[in-house]
Amino acid sequence: MNIGIQLAYLVASVLFILGIKYLGKTKDARKGNVLSAVGMFIAIITTLFTVEVFSLIEIGVAILVGAAIGLYYSQKVAMTKIPEMVALFNGFGGLASFGVALSDFFFKNANAAASLDVINLTSILLSVLIGGVTFTGSMVAYLKLDGKVSGQPITFSGQHLLNLILLIAFLAAAVLVFIDPSQVVYLYILIALALLLGILTVIPIGGADMPVVISLLNSYSGMAACATGFILNNNVLIVAGSLVGASGIILTQIMCKAMNRSLINVLLGGFGQTVATGGADGPAVVVKEIGVEETAMLFDSASSVIVVPGYGMAVAQAQHVVRELMEQCEKRNIEFRFAIHPVAGRMPGHMNVLLAEANISYDKLIEMDDINEDFSNTDLVFVVGANDVVNPAARTNPQSPIFGMPILNADKARTVIVSKRSMGKGYAGVENELFGFPNCLMLFGDAKQTIAKVVGEMKDMT
Ligand code: NDP
Repeated sequence: MNIGIQLAYLVASVLFILGIKYLGKTKDARKGNVLSAVGMFIAIITTLFTVEVFSLIEIGVAILVGAAIGLYYSQKVAMTKIPEMVALFNGFGGLASFGVALSDFFFKNANAAASLDVINLTSILLSVLIGGVTFTGSMVAYLKLDGKVSGQPITFSGQHLLNLILLIAFLAAAVLVFIDPSQVVYLYILIALALLLGILTVIPIGGADMPVVISLLNSYSGMAACATGFILNNNVLIVAGSLVGASGIILTQIMCKAMNRSLINVLLGGFGQTVATGGADGPAVVVKEIGVEETAMLFDSASSVIVVPGYGMAVAQAQHVVRELMEQCEKRNIEFRFAIHPVAGRMPGHMNVLLAEANISYDKLIEMDDINEDFSNTDLVFVVGANDVVNPAARTNPQSPIFGMPILNADKARTVIVSKRSMGKGYAGVENELFGFPNCLMLFGDAKQTIAKVVGEMKDMT
């Protein structure tokens, strides 16, 4: 391949690596995104110089149609629906690799001049397997997250054995393809097996394990792209695919750790079934309510406040009123910080993104491990639409499905106020005994509306 093209791919790859490096720190994340986007732009333009199969006009039309669809959905999608969007992205990424692998196989099979060597065939089969599993697995994940099918795990006896048999059947059919690639019927069998495996491996997973699966599928889509890079002999695709594959695996590990679950345990599924029965929850908790006026008074008299944001803050879009609350507190010289749980919200970094959007400076966002010791010395903890991430059952109740998940020690503060609409449960579907603790007060109502009223009361006090 032309040296200029290889150099351009090298520059793009370096930009991807730098981009990922910068994404590791909140304050540099924007720079990281720009660098990666520039890298992708260089990679796309360079690839256009190597076009063989389609004309530039056909490619241009496809880009325009894709960009229009992407633009439409980027405007339309709600922040809380991003996990569903990511599931679709992963699925289509897998489908693209799957499609390229198949077209390469059929093209080379039909073209006597081109040969299917071992590396080529291995890459094609890997792309079909990983791409196919990613596609159907991601579609199931999307349907579950979007509530189009039940989010509960679907399990049956012999499920894991069946998956194992299907995988062995895939390997056997792959050997037959190696022996005689002209027998395309084996490839059709491989396609069916890969698609089926994707469905069967994701249906037993449910409840709070879904984010881990999304992250894992993201990693698979990267690995499929990497295999496709070998098929097309395209270095930048190999590098980009490896980066997505590796970073997806690292993120999966981080999420498993944050939920105190092993990856194998997540993949074997079943989480959420015990939750559905509610059997482990015990009697319903009795709570004490507080109104906006009293809440404002408690803020006014506090000297230290920690806000625990959660999914409900995203739903209510309450981040801006929370910033106003912070401003009111800081005017009174009250220490004001945010405690960020790694799986608060519905995607990694969800809370950081929302709070950054409201211009809350990064140094006020403290990670769980760095702030957990401080709760016991804090006057007031304000839980805004969070639930599972402050549920003490994770520490104390071995029967609870979330037992072992590290949580924010909000219950240790002198006073806890929880802003939520009702006694509704969180994502994991379990009761939260914190709400019945003697130091806990419930501020019922939509977070944005109630906090706006609290801010109004505080303004009136000055
Ligand atoms: P939870 O899902 O546990 O709880 C959110 C709470 O927000 C609900 O109890 C709900 O109560 C309340 N709420 C909803 N709408 C509003 C509103 N308008 N105003 C005020 N409150 C509202 O959230 P957490 O952030 O504490 O925990 C995240 C959970 O999601 C964990 O179980 C995690 O494992 C899981 N998860 C995490 C992902 C990630 O990567 N971060 C991805 C996917 C899932 P009510 O209905 O009474 O208002």
